[in-house]
Amino acid sequence: MATSTTARCVFLGAPGAGKGTQAKQVAEHFAAAGSPIAHLSTGDMLRAEVKSGSELGVAAKGYMDKGQLVPDQLIIDMVKARIQQPDAAAAWILDGFPRTLPQAEALDENLSGDQALTHVISFSIPEEVLVGRLSGRRTCGKCGAIWHVENRPTKVEGICDTCGGELVQRSDDRPEAIGKRLEVYRTQTAPLLAYYGDRGVLREIDADRSPDVVFQELLERMQ
Ligand SMILES: [Zn+2]
Repeated sequence: MATSTTARCVFLGAPGAGKGTQAKQVAEHFAAAGSPIAHLSTGDMLRAEVKSGSELGVAAKGYMDKGQLVPDQLIIDMVKARIQQPDAAAAWILDGFPRTLPQAEALDENLSGDQALTHVISFSIPEEVLVGRLSGRRTCGKCGAIWHVENRPTKVEGICDTCGGELVQRSDDRPEAIGKRLEVYRTQTAPLLAYYGDRGVLREIDADRSPDVVFQELLERMQ
């Protein structure tokens, strides 16, 4: 796909809409096709910081455990640094960023004229579906693979099919954090739909369908 080499995408959507899983799959697809797109997940970046016990990680963990957003400036600096890495020079998908208007504005400022966003894809899905998806989600503590107790179970309960690692429920997928995350999405992130809609770059995708169907449509939308 010719456009893939210069794709600069934002995947927008509520927690549980499937944007992380899809971004990973899209990145794998393009890597296999020989024109890699870097998958830039702020969630993964933050978890790596938390795991390493960095100053940023310790600060971020406090917010994440409560289901709150990590402050804008912290995230903005982290993404700016990440986007300058060599693997992100040609093409990338931002997953989990921007999450607020100030973050979207900072991203625009950081991307000069010919570097502007090429695609903003909104994953649309009813809230009650999200709650079921999030509460059943389990993550491999070793390789980061994402499973689900009902929708995508592992062969052996609690053990990752891919690497044999132990599955954990992320602190922000616990019931007390889910309600808070969805509320944060409604108040802070949903306004970005209007922000990008006004600029004509927004494409909506119905994310309440099987991952394979969503994936195929996503590839079409990214052409
Ligand atoms: Zn694993």
